Amino acid sequence: MNKSKTKAEKLHLSRVAGLGCIVCKNLGHEDTPAEIHHCSKGTGLSVRADNFHVIPLCHFHHRAGGHGKAVHAGRQTWENNFGTESELLVQVLYELGGEV
Ligand SMILES: [Zn+2]
Ligand SMILES: [Zn+2]
Repeated sequence: MNKSKTKAEKLHLSRVAGLGCIVCKNLGHEDTPAEIHHCSKGTGLSVRADNFHVIPLCHFHHRAGGHGKAVHAGRQTWENNFGTESELLVQVLYELGGEV
């Protein structure tokens, strides 16, 4: 099996990263440089490849921020603070223009 990313996936990942951190954006800080975070679950609306279940997060909100700030330090608390991965994923897709 070829597990490399398709062209569509690569394009999507670069567009997602180009949005900047979605949490920072919602806090009023635009265009914070972002890393790709793979969501643990989809939107529930459809089944897509893993590389479409991604949201842009800055280093702080992704890994470095500690419990309640970084999603990898405790997703439940993070989702209580900033919104669920599913909600943010929907927002990301919307901001990209609704077509993936
Ligand atoms: Zn951030
Ligand atoms: Zn991640």
